[in-house]
Amino acid sequence: MMPEKKKGKKLVIANWKMNPATSAEATKLFEAIKKEAAKAQYVQTVICPPALYLETLKKKVSGHRCVLGAQNNHWEKSGAYTGEHSVSQLVSSGAEYFLIGHSERRAMGETNEMINAKLLAALKAGMRVVFFVGEHKRDQMGEFLKFVTTQLREGLAKVPRRYLLNLVVVYEPVWAISANSGGKSDNPENTLEMIIYIRKILHEIVGKDLATKIPILYGGSVNEKNCEMYLKEAQVDGYVVGGASLKALQFNKIINLSNKK
Ligand code: PGA
Repeated sequence: MMPEKKKGKKLVIANWKMNPATSAEATKLFEAIKKEAAKAQYVQTVICPPALYLETLKKKVSGHRCVLGAQNNHWEKSGAYTGEHSVSQLVSSGAEYFLIGHSERRAMGETNEMINAKLLAALKAGMRVVFFVGEHKRDQMGEFLKFVTTQLREGLAKVPRRYLLNLVVVYEPVWAISANSGGKSDNPENTLEMIIYIRKILHEIVGKDLATKIPILYGGSVNEKNCEMYLKEAQVDGYVVGGASLKALQFNKIINLSNKK
């Protein structure tokens, strides 16, 4: 039996991907979300814009309830890596959280080994890492469980225990992301099973005490209509929101509905 998990603040993370089109639009969206987030004492809101908007948005951050994150980082500190950003560059631009291992980046060639190096670089810098795992498709034989296990084991290989309190894991099945599914999310029974499974694997990798402390989020077509269901029925510690985070009204509703002790 695993010990009961202590409930912390819900993490509501906006993954803006390659949106919006201009810095002015990004500022407007951030300001609108910040207002709602400031009222939500039981929610930690994190906005992950395209990296080039971070500097501008950093100036708009006030307080701790709505902070910024990066969507990607390189593992090296500096050097000949065209188009890349180091952890320290992103931190100096305002990023406090780092999304690592998103399936859209994996699809561009990121391997578990690269993800492991990225994760280590961000954790060593004292940042919070939001580490994505999730299968492409379900199968009757449970191969997808092996796939997720490998992502967890290889992604977390040789991560010193002292860094693990800054780790957040996201279960985001690739088939449930709105861009792939037309908005069809996972059902909460499946999600709950996966949350329990991921915690069991974390238990094997990092030990019981730490495994119970690592927040596990869900991602994939989360919106204002289904978010409460994931909190209640799948017992997630929060979610990563893509499409619905680009509309202030929708995203603010998610923040508001998640603001429960
Ligand atoms: P979605 O995206 O909410 O639009 O499905 C989530 C993600 O890809 O992180």
